[in-house]
Amino acid sequence: MDDTTARERLESMLAELDRSIGVLRGDPVAVRDRSAADAGSDLTDTDRAQAMLTVATAQRGAVVAALRRLDEGSYGECVDCGKQVPEGRLEARPEAARCVQCQSRQERRR
Ligand SMILES: [Zn+2]
Repeated sequence: MDDTTARERLESMLAELDRSIGVLRGDPVAVRDRSAADAGSDLTDTDRAQAMLTVATAQRGAVVAALRRLDEGSYGECVDCGKQVPEGRLEARPEAARCVQCQSRQERRR
C-alpha cells in the first residue's frame, strides 16, 4: 500500500470516526446527519454509548498518529522495534502502529 492510498484510507476513517464521535456525544448536527446505515443502532443505552465513545476516541487517536507518521515519513514502521509492519496488517488496519509481535507485547502489558 503506497502512502497516498494509506492517507486516503486514514482520512476517510478519521471523517467517519469524527462523525461517530459526534453522534455518540449527542451533537444535534451529527445526529441529524446520521445516515440510514446507522439507523439500527440503539444509543439509548448510555453505558454502551460511553463504551463506544471510548473505543472511537482511542481509534481516532491511532488514526491521527498514523497520519502524523505519514507526514514524518515513518509510516509503516513499527513504533517500538522500527521494523516494517507487514503489508497485510496495514491493509487490514491502516492505523496500526506496531508489528504483530510488539502489539501483542503491548497488549499483555496492559
Ligand atoms: Zn515491532
